[in-house]
Amino acid sequence: MVLQRHPNLWPPFTQMASAAAAQRVTAGDGALLLREEGAPLIDAISSWWVTLHGHANPVMAEAIADQARRLEQVIFADFTHEPAEQLAVRLSGITGLQRLFFSDNGSTAVEVAIKIACQWWANRGQPRHQIVAFDGAYHGDTFGAMAVGERNLFSAPFEDKLFPVARVPWPSTWWNDDDVDRKETAALQILEDTLQTPTAAVILEPLLQGAGGMTMVRPEFLREVERRTKAAGALLIADEVLTGFGRCGDWFASRRAGIRPDLMALSKGLTGGCLPMGVTMASEAVFEAFIGDDPNLTLWHGHSFTANPLGCAAANASLTLLEQNPTAFQNFEARHRPQLEALAQHPRVERPRLLGTVAAFDLVVGGTAGYLNPAGPTVKRIAMEHGVFLRPLGQVVYLLPPLCITDAQLEQCYEAIQTALDQL
Ligand code: PMP
Repeated sequence: MVLQRHPNLWPPFTQMASAAAAQRVTAGDGALLLREEGAPLIDAISSWWVTLHGHANPVMAEAIADQARRLEQVIFADFTHEPAEQLAVRLSGITGLQRLFFSDNGSTAVEVAIKIACQWWANRGQPRHQIVAFDGAYHGDTFGAMAVGERNLFSAPFEDKLFPVARVPWPSTWWNDDDVDRKETAALQILEDTLQTPTAAVILEPLLQGAGGMTMVRPEFLREVERRTKAAGALLIADEVLTGFGRCGDWFASRRAGIRPDLMALSKGLTGGCLPMGVTMASEAVFEAFIGDDPNLTLWHGHSFTANPLGCAAANASLTLLEQNPTAFQNFEARHRPQLEALAQHPRVERPRLLGTVAAFDLVVGGTAGYLNPAGPTVKRIAMEHGVFLRPLGQVVYLLPPLCITDAQLEQCYEAIQTALDQL
């Protein structure tokens, strides 16, 4: 049944005056969303990029249920528990960053990283104030995360409340882009000039900016950013909220790019997409500056649900699933490639690009590029009629499916896009 928008709900990123009626989902099954009415839909964007092993995965369900029967929550300032300790050891091992700080979502994981970076300088008696971020960035919707993100429609009402940030261009690239060297050189020059001012931290989404339009940069660019950042003594923060846990074809985008951040923000796929949780990983060198007798050295930050045992159990189960079958994410790019190559021939497609599980392109359409470009909703509607749930970012169409999607389902996604392009 198609419902009118509920009188007691206020949904995210939704203008209620014009929003289409929301459909009620009753269950999930792998890559499929089962609706109260209508055929199952392929969740081709992993429900806002979180669902990793598919919906209603029985291994994940059992891990969460088992933990719920034993311990659902405990105050983490005074106690610890085995699922949290196990997760800390495992994440420390795969990120190379020794300390894990828990929060609740991607935005808070970023907030914590920024606070740690700023306080790290203060604790060492050398306060630094400048934060550097990239054009087009998206780091979340809380105030600090908004401040480092690109200023736009979403942040406009709060502009006067957001701390200043120095910006560097993001030299995004795509297949057969012959201008990438020039764009990278120009961006690196601006970064170098910007870093003349003492800088607390540089924050970036490694290899892939998500909400900014699924734009990708080359690993060699990130390695040059890292080199300049470290030469300037600034901390490097990798926001891997989207790119972590196999999304980009490796465990982390930083790892694939060959960079070693000092701080890393993680969420979304952390719990396999089953429960809300964020973590900020920090190097031991960062952590050490917070240790001492002076209370001012303490990181006075914490959340009620810190290290929620259900979230930790889900995260541990998700890591086990990834470890048992790493080819599921390592080989995903090869599954996309021939289909994207075929689609790239379509006259409505430009700037095709691919990274791990994420395939994207821009629509060749009129209108201003950006989130409000009307072509996106048209493609979304047509794809939905063909059993595929997409959520284009303006004129940017992308697929970001769960790892469990079958070959037939993935093909259906590409066919639905092809049909939508033909009808545009
Ligand atoms: N950072 C990145 C790179 C993201 O993609 C997102 C969410 N799309 C966030 C941070 C914020 O995460 P959350 O929505 O969980 O607060």
